[in-house]
Amino acid sequence: MNFNHLMGRNVSKRKCKANNELCYYIPVGNVRSTQGENIHMTMTCRNCGVREDIFLTKEQYFTQQKLILKEIKNV
Ligand SMILES: [Zn+2]
Repeated sequence: MNFNHLMGRNVSKRKCKANNELCYYIPVGNVRSTQGENIHMTMTCRNCGVREDIFLTKEQYFTQQKLILKEIKNV
């Protein structure tokens, strides 16, 4: 599955350089919590390889955690 729903609006709507569709973002593993209530993650498009850093609230992250960890393991 892709994680576009976690990306900011501008990013998730960006056209992919590889196929001119929307980028297909997956997490690449640098999950770390920042000071405060945010989780920092690096996402990459599996088609064109563009990278984006995103911040999730802890709540958003824990809702998705199983999926995120599963996806990272598959990479
Ligand atoms: Zn892309």
